[in-house]
Amino acid sequence: MTVTSLAADLSELDRADPLARFRDRFHLRDGLIYLDGNSLGALPRATAARLQQVIADEWGEGLITSWLGAEWSTAPQRIGDKIARLLGADPGEIVATDSTSVNIFKALTAALSLRPGRSKILSEKTNFPTDVYMMQGIEAFSGGRVKAVAVDPAAVLDALDDDVAVLLLTQVHYKSGRVRDMAEVTRRAHAAGALAVWDLSHSAGAIEVDLNGAQADFAIGCGYKFLNGGPGAPAYLFAAARHQAATPVLSGWFGHARPFSFEDDYDPAAGITRFLCGTPPVLGLAALEAGVDLLLEADMGELRRKSLRLGDLFMERMEPLCDRHGFELASERDPALRGSQVAYAHPQAYQIVQALKEYDVVADFRAPDILRFGLTPLYLRHRDIAETVERLEQVCATRAWDKPQYHQRAAVT
Ligand SMILES: *Cc1c(COP(=O)(O)O)cnc(C)c1O
Repeated sequence: MTVTSLAADLSELDRADPLARFRDRFHLRDGLIYLDGNSLGALPRATAARLQQVIADEWGEGLITSWLGAEWSTAPQRIGDKIARLLGADPGEIVATDSTSVNIFKALTAALSLRPGRSKILSEKTNFPTDVYMMQGIEAFSGGRVKAVAVDPAAVLDALDDDVAVLLLTQVHYKSGRVRDMAEVTRRAHAAGALAVWDLSHSAGAIEVDLNGAQADFAIGCGYKFLNGGPGAPAYLFAAARHQAATPVLSGWFGHARPFSFEDDYDPAAGITRFLCGTPPVLGLAALEAGVDLLLEADMGELRRKSLRLGDLFMERMEPLCDRHGFELASERDPALRGSQVAYAHPQAYQIVQALKEYDVVADFRAPDILRFGLTPLYLRHRDIAETVERLEQVCATRAWDKPQYHQRAAVT
Protein backbone atom coordinates (compact mmCIF):
# COMPACT_ATOMS: atom_id res chain seq x y z
CA MET A 1 0.00 0.00 0.00
CA THR A 2 1.40 3.39 -0.94
CA VAL A 3 1.65 6.32 1.37
CA THR A 4 -0.58 8.44 -0.86
CA SER A 5 -3.43 5.99 -0.60
CA LEU A 6 -2.83 5.92 3.15
CA ALA A 7 -3.41 9.62 3.28
CA ALA A 8 -6.61 9.31 1.28
CA ASP A 9 -8.84 7.75 3.87
CA LEU A 10 -7.56 7.09 7.34
CA SER A 11 -10.86 6.05 8.82
CA GLU A 12 -11.23 3.44 6.08
CA LEU A 13 -7.80 2.09 7.03
CA ASP A 14 -8.83 2.00 10.68
CA ARG A 15 -12.02 0.12 9.80
CA ALA A 16 -10.10 -2.42 7.71
CA ASP A 17 -7.36 -2.83 10.33
CA PRO A 18 -7.21 -6.49 11.39
CA LEU A 19 -5.78 -5.41 14.78
CA ALA A 20 -8.43 -2.76 15.48
CA ARG A 21 -10.27 -5.03 17.92
CA PHE A 22 -7.31 -4.94 20.32
CA ARG A 23 -7.65 -1.26 21.19
CA ASP A 24 -10.64 -1.95 23.43
CA ARG A 25 -8.66 -4.50 25.37
CA PHE A 26 -6.61 -1.65 26.86
CA HIS A 27 -7.51 1.05 29.31
CA LEU A 28 -6.85 4.31 27.43
CA ARG A 29 -8.29 7.66 28.46
CA ASP A 30 -10.45 9.38 25.81
CA GLY A 31 -8.57 11.97 23.80
CA LEU A 32 -5.14 10.79 24.88
CA ILE A 33 -2.68 9.77 22.17
CA TYR A 34 -0.09 7.55 23.80
CA LEU A 35 3.14 7.24 21.83
CA ASP A 36 5.24 5.98 24.70
CA GLY A 37 4.31 2.30 24.71
CA ASN A 38 7.96 1.55 23.96
CA SER A 39 8.85 2.94 27.40
CA LEU A 40 5.86 1.82 29.45
CA GLY A 41 3.16 -0.16 27.66
CA ALA A 42 -0.50 0.71 28.27
CA LEU A 43 -2.61 -1.19 30.81
CA PRO A 44 -4.47 -4.22 29.42
CA ARG A 45 -8.01 -4.33 30.85
CA ALA A 46 -7.52 -7.97 31.86
CA THR A 47 -4.58 -7.10 34.10
CA ALA A 48 -6.54 -5.38 36.86
CA ALA A 49 -8.95 -8.31 37.21
CA ARG A 50 -6.12 -10.81 37.12
CA LEU A 51 -4.16 -8.97 39.82
CA GLN A 52 -7.28 -8.64 41.93
CA GLN A 53 -7.70 -12.42 41.74
CA VAL A 54 -4.07 -13.08 42.63
CA ILE A 55 -4.28 -10.70 45.58
CA ALA A 56 -7.69 -11.70 46.96
CA ASP A 57 -7.82 -15.42 46.22
CA GLU A 58 -4.28 -16.68 45.79
CA TRP A 59 -2.55 -14.51 48.36
CA GLY A 60 -5.44 -13.57 50.66
CA GLU A 61 -7.05 -16.98 50.87
CA GLY A 62 -4.43 -19.42 49.64
CA LEU A 63 -1.49 -17.85 51.44
CA ILE A 64 1.63 -19.98 51.26
CA THR A 65 -0.20 -22.95 49.69
CA SER A 66 -0.45 -20.89 46.49
CA TRP A 67 3.22 -21.50 45.71
CA LEU A 68 2.04 -24.89 44.52
CA GLY A 69 -1.76 -24.57 44.41
CA ALA A 70 -1.75 -21.46 42.21
CA GLU A 71 1.45 -22.45 40.41
CA TRP A 72 3.40 -19.44 41.62
CA SER A 73 6.61 -21.41 41.85
CA THR A 74 6.68 -22.31 38.14
CA ALA A 75 5.50 -18.92 36.84
CA PRO A 76 8.98 -17.82 35.63
CA GLN A 77 9.24 -20.90 33.39
CA ARG A 78 5.58 -20.89 32.30
CA ILE A 79 5.68 -17.21 31.27
CA GLY A 80 9.12 -17.74 29.76
CA ASP A 81 7.65 -20.42 27.49
CA LYS A 82 4.96 -17.98 26.37
CA ILE A 83 7.54 -15.29 25.62
CA ALA A 84 9.51 -17.92 23.69
CA ARG A 85 6.62 -18.14 21.22
CA LEU A 86 7.06 -14.43 20.44
CA LEU A 87 10.81 -14.70 19.99
CA GLY A 88 11.48 -17.84 17.99
CA ALA A 89 12.80 -19.78 20.99
CA ASP A 90 11.86 -23.26 22.19
CA PRO A 91 10.06 -24.13 25.42
CA GLY A 92 12.62 -24.35 28.22
CA GLU A 93 14.89 -21.66 26.80
CA ILE A 94 13.45 -18.54 28.49
CA VAL A 95 12.63 -17.56 32.07
CA ALA A 96 10.77 -14.43 33.18
CA THR A 97 12.82 -13.07 36.06
CA ASP A 98 14.76 -10.17 37.57
CA SER A 99 15.37 -6.90 35.73
CA THR A 100 16.94 -6.50 32.31
CA SER A 101 20.06 -5.03 33.91
CA VAL A 102 20.48 -8.02 36.22
CA ASN A 103 19.83 -10.42 33.34
CA ILE A 104 22.53 -8.67 31.31
CA PHE A 105 24.95 -9.47 34.12
CA LYS A 106 23.79 -13.09 34.23
CA ALA A 107 23.97 -13.59 30.45
CA LEU A 108 27.38 -11.92 30.10
CA THR A 109 28.97 -13.84 32.95
CA ALA A 110 27.53 -17.13 31.65
CA ALA A 111 28.92 -16.35 28.19
CA LEU A 112 32.32 -15.42 29.66
CA SER A 113 32.46 -18.76 31.46
CA LEU A 114 31.95 -20.50 28.10
CA ARG A 115 34.90 -18.64 26.55
CA PRO A 116 37.52 -18.97 29.33
CA GLY A 117 40.60 -18.03 27.29
CA ARG A 118 39.18 -14.70 26.16
CA SER A 119 38.89 -11.43 28.05
CA LYS A 120 36.75 -8.89 26.16
CA ILE A 121 33.08 -8.01 26.29
CA LEU A 122 32.41 -5.98 23.16
CA SER A 123 29.54 -3.57 22.58
CA GLU A 124 28.82 -0.26 20.90
CA LYS A 125 28.92 3.30 22.14
CA THR A 126 25.41 4.84 22.22
CA ASN A 127 24.00 1.50 23.37
CA PHE A 128 21.38 1.81 26.11
CA PRO A 129 23.53 2.94 29.05
CA THR A 130 22.72 0.14 31.49
CA ASP A 131 24.07 -2.44 29.03
CA VAL A 132 27.50 -0.82 29.00
CA TYR A 133 27.39 0.04 32.71
CA MET A 134 26.85 -3.64 33.52
CA MET A 135 29.85 -4.53 31.34
CA GLN A 136 31.94 -1.99 33.23
CA GLY A 137 30.81 -3.44 36.55
CA ILE A 138 31.94 -6.90 35.45
CA GLU A 139 35.31 -5.47 34.44
CA ALA A 140 35.71 -3.82 37.85
CA PHE A 141 34.61 -6.95 39.71
CA SER A 142 37.01 -9.12 37.72
CA GLY A 143 39.91 -6.98 38.92
CA GLY A 144 40.63 -6.08 35.29
CA ARG A 145 40.82 -9.62 33.90
CA VAL A 146 37.69 -8.89 31.86
CA LYS A 147 37.73 -5.82 29.61
CA ALA A 148 34.58 -3.84 28.74
CA VAL A 149 35.01 -2.40 25.25
CA ALA A 150 32.44 -0.12 23.56
CA VAL A 151 33.35 1.03 20.04
CA ASP A 152 31.59 3.19 17.44
CA PRO A 153 28.49 1.43 16.13
CA ALA A 154 29.93 1.16 12.61
CA ALA A 155 33.16 -0.41 13.93
CA VAL A 156 31.64 -3.26 15.94
CA LEU A 157 32.14 -6.08 13.45
CA ASP A 158 35.72 -5.08 12.73
CA ALA A 159 36.46 -5.08 16.46
CA LEU A 160 35.65 -8.82 16.71
CA ASP A 161 39.20 -10.05 17.34
CA ASP A 162 40.31 -13.33 18.90
CA ASP A 163 40.15 -11.92 22.42
CA VAL A 164 36.42 -11.13 22.30
CA ALA A 165 34.50 -13.60 24.43
CA VAL A 166 31.09 -12.06 23.99
CA LEU A 167 29.37 -9.44 21.87
CA LEU A 168 26.47 -7.57 23.50
CA LEU A 169 24.18 -5.62 21.16
CA THR A 170 20.66 -4.25 21.21
CA GLN A 171 18.68 -5.44 18.21
CA VAL A 172 16.52 -2.29 17.91
CA HIS A 173 18.36 0.83 19.02
CA TYR A 174 16.47 2.60 21.79
CA LYS A 175 16.90 6.08 20.31
CA SER A 176 17.04 5.73 16.54
CA GLY A 177 15.02 2.51 16.30
CA ARG A 178 17.62 1.16 13.88
CA VAL A 179 17.47 -2.63 13.52
CA ARG A 180 20.56 -4.85 13.54
CA ASP A 181 20.56 -8.00 11.41
CA MET A 182 20.61 -10.55 14.23
CA ALA A 183 21.41 -13.58 12.06
CA GLU A 184 24.26 -11.92 10.18
CA VAL A 185 25.86 -10.26 13.21
CA THR A 186 25.62 -13.49 15.20
CA ARG A 187 27.23 -15.37 12.33
CA ARG A 188 30.11 -12.87 12.33
CA ALA A 189 30.51 -13.17 16.11
CA HIS A 190 30.61 -16.97 15.87
CA ALA A 191 33.09 -16.82 12.98
CA ALA A 192 35.38 -14.85 15.31
CA GLY A 193 34.89 -17.41 18.08
CA ALA A 194 32.70 -15.16 20.23
CA LEU A 195 29.19 -15.61 21.61
CA ALA A 196 26.35 -13.15 20.95
CA VAL A 197 24.04 -11.72 23.62
CA TRP A 198 21.06 -9.78 22.27
CA ASP A 199 19.09 -7.13 24.11
CA LEU A 200 15.52 -7.37 22.81
CA SER A 201 14.00 -4.60 24.93
CA HIS A 202 12.67 -2.75 21.87
CA SER A 203 12.13 -5.86 19.73
CA ALA A 204 9.91 -8.21 21.72
CA GLY A 205 6.29 -7.57 20.83
CA ALA A 206 7.32 -4.99 18.24
CA ILE A 207 9.08 -6.83 15.40
CA GLU A 208 9.39 -10.46 14.38
CA VAL A 209 12.29 -12.08 16.24
CA ASP A 210 13.77 -15.50 15.50
CA LEU A 211 16.36 -16.26 18.18
CA ASN A 212 17.04 -19.85 17.16
CA GLY A 213 16.83 -19.07 13.46
CA ALA A 214 19.64 -16.57 14.11
CA GLN A 215 21.61 -19.03 16.29
CA ALA A 216 21.60 -16.45 19.12
CA ASP A 217 23.44 -17.59 22.25
CA PHE A 218 21.77 -15.51 24.98
CA ALA A 219 19.17 -12.75 25.01
CA ILE A 220 17.46 -10.51 27.52
CA GLY A 221 14.76 -7.85 27.45
CA CYS A 222 12.16 -5.82 29.29
CA GLY A 223 8.64 -6.83 30.29
CA TYR A 224 7.19 -3.33 30.66
CA LYS A 225 7.66 -2.02 27.10
CA PHE A 226 5.87 -3.67 24.15
CA LEU A 227 4.93 -6.66 26.32
CA ASN A 228 2.67 -4.38 28.41
CA GLY A 229 3.69 -6.09 31.66
CA GLY A 230 3.34 -2.99 33.87
CA PRO A 231 5.79 -0.61 35.59
CA GLY A 232 8.94 -2.43 36.65
CA ALA A 233 7.65 -5.75 35.28
CA PRO A 234 10.02 -8.72 35.50
CA ALA A 235 12.35 -9.05 32.52
CA TYR A 236 13.30 -12.26 30.72
CA LEU A 237 16.44 -14.20 29.90
CA PHE A 238 17.03 -16.58 26.98
CA ALA A 239 19.81 -19.16 27.11
CA ALA A 240 20.02 -21.39 24.03
CA ALA A 241 19.57 -25.03 25.03
CA ARG A 242 23.19 -25.76 24.03
CA HIS A 243 24.48 -23.26 26.63
CA GLN A 244 22.43 -24.31 29.62
CA ALA A 245 25.31 -26.17 31.25
CA ALA A 246 27.00 -22.85 32.04
CA THR A 247 27.31 -22.34 35.81
CA PRO A 248 25.48 -19.17 36.90
CA VAL A 249 27.43 -16.56 38.82
CA LEU A 250 24.26 -15.35 40.56
CA SER A 251 23.85 -18.73 42.18
CA GLY A 252 20.68 -18.19 44.19
CA TRP A 253 18.52 -20.85 45.75
CA PHE A 254 15.71 -20.64 43.17
CA GLY A 255 18.25 -21.84 40.61
CA HIS A 256 19.23 -24.79 42.79
CA ALA A 257 18.36 -28.34 41.74
CA ARG A 258 16.54 -28.91 45.07
CA PRO A 259 15.80 -25.53 46.69
CA PHE A 260 13.59 -27.00 49.38
CA SER A 261 16.20 -29.52 50.50
CA PHE A 262 18.06 -26.53 51.99
CA GLU A 263 21.44 -28.10 51.24
CA ASP A 264 24.69 -26.48 52.31
CA ASP A 265 26.14 -26.27 48.81
CA TYR A 266 24.99 -24.90 45.50
CA ASP A 267 24.06 -27.44 42.85
CA PRO A 268 22.52 -25.77 39.79
CA ALA A 269 19.21 -27.05 38.45
CA ALA A 270 19.11 -28.57 35.00
CA GLY A 271 18.03 -26.39 32.09
CA ILE A 272 16.89 -22.79 32.11
CA THR A 273 15.86 -22.92 35.79
CA ARG A 274 19.47 -22.40 36.86
CA PHE A 275 19.19 -18.85 35.52
CA LEU A 276 16.73 -17.97 38.27
CA CYS A 277 18.16 -16.44 41.41
CA GLY A 278 15.75 -15.51 44.23
CA THR A 279 12.06 -15.78 45.05
CA PRO A 280 9.91 -14.80 42.02
CA PRO A 281 7.92 -11.50 42.25
CA VAL A 282 4.46 -13.07 41.97
CA LEU A 283 2.37 -9.91 41.54
CA GLY A 284 4.67 -8.54 38.85
CA LEU A 285 4.72 -11.87 37.04
CA ALA A 286 0.90 -12.04 37.06
CA ALA A 287 0.68 -8.63 35.38
CA LEU A 288 3.38 -9.60 32.89
CA GLU A 289 1.55 -12.78 32.00
CA ALA A 290 -1.66 -10.87 31.26
CA GLY A 291 0.28 -8.60 28.88
CA VAL A 292 1.99 -11.50 27.13
CA ASP A 293 -1.27 -13.46 26.81
CA LEU A 294 -2.88 -10.52 25.05
CA LEU A 295 0.02 -10.15 22.64
CA LEU A 296 -0.09 -13.86 21.83
CA GLU A 297 -3.61 -13.41 20.48
CA ALA A 298 -2.25 -11.12 17.75
CA ASP A 299 -0.41 -12.18 14.63
CA MET A 300 3.18 -10.86 14.71
CA GLY A 301 3.24 -10.44 10.91
CA GLU A 302 0.15 -8.25 11.03
CA LEU A 303 1.59 -6.36 13.96
CA ARG A 304 4.78 -5.61 12.06
CA ARG A 305 2.97 -4.58 8.88
CA LYS A 306 0.76 -2.16 10.79
CA SER A 307 3.71 -0.77 12.71
CA LEU A 308 5.52 0.02 9.45
CA ARG A 309 2.36 1.53 7.95
CA LEU A 310 1.97 3.80 10.99
CA GLY A 311 5.61 4.81 10.64
CA ASP A 312 5.23 5.58 6.92
CA LEU A 313 2.19 7.70 7.63
CA PHE A 314 3.97 9.52 10.45
CA MET A 315 6.99 10.38 8.30
CA GLU A 316 4.79 11.47 5.39
CA ARG A 317 2.76 13.81 7.59
CA MET A 318 5.91 15.18 9.25
CA GLU A 319 7.55 16.30 6.01
CA PRO A 320 6.03 19.82 5.97
CA LEU A 321 7.01 20.25 9.65
CA CYS A 322 10.59 19.33 8.87
CA ASP A 323 10.72 22.19 6.37
CA ARG A 324 8.75 24.68 8.46
CA HIS A 325 9.91 23.94 11.99
CA GLY A 326 13.31 22.31 11.72
CA PHE A 327 12.62 18.68 12.64
CA GLU A 328 15.17 16.24 11.31
CA LEU A 329 14.37 12.57 10.85
CA ALA A 330 16.64 10.55 13.17
CA SER A 331 15.39 7.07 12.30
CA GLU A 332 15.57 4.87 9.24
CA ARG A 333 13.13 4.99 6.32
CA ASP A 334 14.07 1.53 5.10
CA PRO A 335 11.51 -0.88 6.62
CA ALA A 336 14.18 -3.56 7.06
CA LEU A 337 16.15 -1.21 9.31
CA ARG A 338 13.27 0.34 11.22
CA GLY A 339 11.89 -0.76 14.59
CA SER A 340 8.50 0.26 15.95
CA GLN A 341 9.22 3.92 16.53
CA VAL A 342 10.01 7.11 14.68
CA ALA A 343 12.51 9.63 16.04
CA TYR A 344 13.22 13.25 15.16
CA ALA A 345 16.02 15.53 16.24
CA HIS A 346 15.13 19.12 17.16
CA PRO A 347 17.04 21.70 19.24
CA GLN A 348 13.93 22.25 21.44
CA ALA A 349 13.07 18.55 21.65
CA TYR A 350 12.69 18.54 25.42
CA GLN A 351 10.37 21.56 25.55
CA ILE A 352 8.28 20.33 22.63
CA VAL A 353 7.71 16.94 24.29
CA GLN A 354 6.56 18.75 27.46
CA ALA A 355 4.24 21.08 25.53
CA LEU A 356 2.72 18.15 23.64
CA LYS A 357 1.33 16.88 26.95
CA GLU A 358 -0.92 19.97 27.08
CA TYR A 359 -2.33 18.70 23.79
CA ASP A 360 -2.81 15.23 25.26
CA VAL A 361 -0.02 13.59 23.28
CA VAL A 362 2.52 11.57 25.25
CA ALA A 363 5.83 11.00 23.48
CA ASP A 364 9.26 10.99 25.00
CA PHE A 365 12.49 12.86 24.98
CA ARG A 366 15.89 11.21 24.84
CA ALA A 367 18.92 13.39 25.49
CA PRO A 368 20.35 15.41 23.95
CA ASP A 369 17.84 16.38 21.26
CA ILE A 370 15.58 13.46 20.26
CA LEU A 371 11.78 13.29 20.21
CA ARG A 372 10.82 9.63 20.19
CA PHE A 373 7.39 8.43 19.09
CA GLY A 374 6.66 4.80 19.96
CA LEU A 375 4.26 3.02 17.59
CA THR A 376 2.22 0.32 19.29
CA PRO A 377 0.02 -1.35 16.67
CA LEU A 378 -2.22 -3.03 19.24
CA TYR A 379 -3.77 0.20 20.42
CA LEU A 380 -2.87 3.02 18.01
CA ARG A 381 -5.09 3.95 15.08
CA HIS A 382 -3.99 5.53 11.81
CA ARG A 383 -6.03 8.60 12.70
CA ASP A 384 -4.06 8.99 15.95
CA ILE A 385 -0.91 9.44 13.90
CA ALA A 386 -2.39 12.14 11.69
CA GLU A 387 -3.85 13.84 14.78
CA THR A 388 -0.46 13.76 16.54
CA VAL A 389 1.20 15.61 13.70
CA GLU A 390 -1.60 18.20 13.69
CA ARG A 391 -1.15 18.80 17.42
CA LEU A 392 2.61 19.01 16.94
CA GLU A 393 2.07 21.62 14.25
CA GLN A 394 0.01 23.65 16.75
CA VAL A 395 2.71 23.38 19.41
CA CYS A 396 5.23 24.76 16.94
CA ALA A 397 3.01 27.38 15.30
CA THR A 398 1.95 28.85 18.67
CA ARG A 399 5.38 28.33 20.28
CA ALA A 400 3.56 26.57 23.13
CA TRP A 401 6.89 24.98 24.03
CA ASP A 402 8.48 28.32 24.87
CA LYS A 403 7.33 28.57 28.49
CA PRO A 404 9.66 28.96 31.45
CA GLN A 405 8.47 25.73 33.12
CA TYR A 406 9.47 23.71 30.04
CA HIS A 407 13.01 24.95 30.19
CA GLN A 408 13.53 23.15 33.50
CA ARG A 409 14.50 19.47 33.06
CA ALA A 410 12.61 16.91 35.15
CA ALA A 411 14.46 14.01 36.79
CA VAL A 412 12.67 11.38 34.69
CA THR A 413 12.20 12.06 30.99
C1 LIG B 1 14.66 -0.14 28.55
C2 LIG B 1 15.98 -0.79 28.34
C3 LIG B 1 16.69 -1.38 29.42
C4 LIG B 1 16.17 -1.21 30.82
O1 LIG B 1 16.78 -2.04 31.75
P1 LIG B 1 16.11 -2.16 33.22
O2 LIG B 1 16.99 -3.04 33.96
O3 LIG B 1 14.72 -2.66 33.00
O4 LIG B 1 16.02 -0.78 33.79
C5 LIG B 1 17.86 -2.05 29.11
N1 LIG B 1 18.33 -2.14 27.85
C6 LIG B 1 17.67 -1.58 26.81
C7 LIG B 1 18.21 -1.70 25.43
C8 LIG B 1 16.48 -0.87 27.02
O5 LIG B 1 15.86 -0.30 26.00
